[in-house]
Amino acid sequence: MRTSIATVSVSGTLPEKIAAIAAAGFDGLELFEQDLLVTDETPATIRRMIEGHGLALTLYQPFRDFETLPEPHRQAAFDRAERKFDLMQELGADLMLICSSVSPQALGGIDRAAADFRDLGDRAARRGLRVGYEALCWGRHVSDHRDAWEIVRRADHPAIGLVLDSFHTLAKGIDPETIRAIPGDRIFIVQLADAPLIHMDLLHWSRHLRNMPGEGDLPVKDFVKAVYATGYAGYLSLEIFNDQFRGGSARSIAHDGHRSLVHLMDQVTREVPAARAPARPLPDRSVVHGVSFVEFAADARRAEGLAATLRTLGFRKAGRHRSKSVDLYRQGEINIVVNTEQQGQARSAFLAHGTAAYAIGLMVDDAGATLSRAVALGAEPFDQEPNPGDIRLPGIRGIGGSVIHFVDRSAELVRLWEHEFVNVADEAPARDAGLERIDHVAQTMFVDELLTSLLFYTSLFDVRKLPMVDVVDPGGLVRSQVIENDSGGLRLTLNGAENRRTLAGHFVTELFGAGIQHIAFATRDLARTAAALSANGFQPLRVSPNYYADLTARFGLPDAEVEALRSAGILYDRDADGEFLQLYGRTGEDGFFFEVVERRGYAGYGAFNAPFRIAAQKRHLAPATLPRPLERG
Ligand code: MG
Ligand code: MG
Repeated sequence: MRTSIATVSVSGTLPEKIAAIAAAGFDGLELFEQDLLVTDETPATIRRMIEGHGLALTLYQPFRDFETLPEPHRQAAFDRAERKFDLMQELGADLMLICSSVSPQALGGIDRAAADFRDLGDRAARRGLRVGYEALCWGRHVSDHRDAWEIVRRADHPAIGLVLDSFHTLAKGIDPETIRAIPGDRIFIVQLADAPLIHMDLLHWSRHLRNMPGEGDLPVKDFVKAVYATGYAGYLSLEIFNDQFRGGSARSIAHDGHRSLVHLMDQVTREVPAARAPARPLPDRSVVHGVSFVEFAADARRAEGLAATLRTLGFRKAGRHRSKSVDLYRQGEINIVVNTEQQGQARSAFLAHGTAAYAIGLMVDDAGATLSRAVALGAEPFDQEPNPGDIRLPGIRGIGGSVIHFVDRSAELVRLWEHEFVNVADEAPARDAGLERIDHVAQTMFVDELLTSLLFYTSLFDVRKLPMVDVVDPGGLVRSQVIENDSGGLRLTLNGAENRRTLAGHFVTELFGAGIQHIAFATRDLARTAAALSANGFQPLRVSPNYYADLTARFGLPDAEVEALRSAGILYDRDADGEFLQLYGRTGEDGFFFEVVERRGYAGYGAFNAPFRIAAQKRHLAPATLPRPLERG
């Protein structure tokens, strides 16, 4: 399957767009007229640039308001088309997109439209060009691909074909199964876009909020399966109008686009008969069975502080690396690695971000296959030379310079710890607090990195995304996106900061990029855990007393129960599934904090409690570390 993307989908000047599209691995691009009109380069130069990058020019678009005009407008439209044909020949483009007319002067009528296209087909064919007709879902007379197809069918001209666009079909709720009846060779190109499900004006929705397949909520996969059933074998071309993407990094957006198509084709390939399958499937999306370890980068002073915090949480020092300045802390099934090496990725991560949970190990069935899939999806392998005798863990670079290792579920893990670490007796053993495993990992980023992360995780792992929720911070909104699997082996909360005055925004700004901001451990009995933590000297985060008064009002909990929660610093939530208890530690100097949770059937993440927690954390932050008013923006 050949891939293409419209230049309108990525940011930058036209030369920058072309370079980014080529670097991301696309086979071709659609040239969006506006991108050509604003550049100083000649069409011949643009042609050389596209060819020089090894890209095909798959489509010139759009030509608007062509069909069913009365004279003299009709003749003017044909004259306009001829001038665009001249331009296309200079550019080396052979296919033009005409979208259904929105002109108040258009008369409508399927036969009148077909006659116009038949005449235009003659003119295009004389030059060896083709024209594709696309139904805009807000078109004046034609707003459904079935009507556009009927016009193309009646035009009955080899140079006139259909353009399908998943947004126009799916946003309007048209069943994509209706595509199956169209002959594949009459479809000239297929454009793909997804979008979040929002009830709004179709035009506004399309022009501002489209996103990459898999980033939104439309059934793009079903659309593509129907397209394949027609025998269509041409380009799948992304056409994404998105305000955020227009201001984002061209390379990153193009990279996401290519990843979305590779992932989409993989899903389609698995569900269509082998003879029709557009590609060979990649290794399966990996099931993550748990977080095998979290590795912090720190310097010696901060490592001491981190160790002290871990001990208050009931961790004991369990090992020292045989050849590196790396310590292992353990409790239950949780492994926390503290790396104070003076070189390598840990050191780079520390210098960039301060004390940071820069690497995680995810337990999968087949680490090698997981790596293969990740690389096929465009992830960058992480391959730091291990010390002699150490085990080489497959890994990739995650967001913000982080590293994700893949750990085989089998004996690999046992071997890893026993092989690389010498058991040590903790000189200051703490009281075990009953923490059993990692419940969730929270990553913080700027809001425009959320979709990139979402696509990264959902294309690689067998996970689902929950609806995005808004969390109110006194300094602004934070968008929170949960990614999780059925077993609970992987639960991620991705928090996207809208501005730097939020706690999340402050974290990303001060620490130079996205990263893990908190880790939540699971206990079966938070009251007992809290007592053990208290004995260990743990300092819980204290939220406002008003919060506890409201708990009584909201849930009708007995006073004694609310008082027990308040005195332990425990937050409470309840939904139809069950109850949720949360306890937060104080935020460290580099913005990181720990959470302990007890789930009593509850499947959420305490989003309701987040504003109270955030407000309390902000009160605890030293004023000097908060952004000064002049810097606010
Ligand atoms: Mg389109
Ligand atoms: Mg949390």
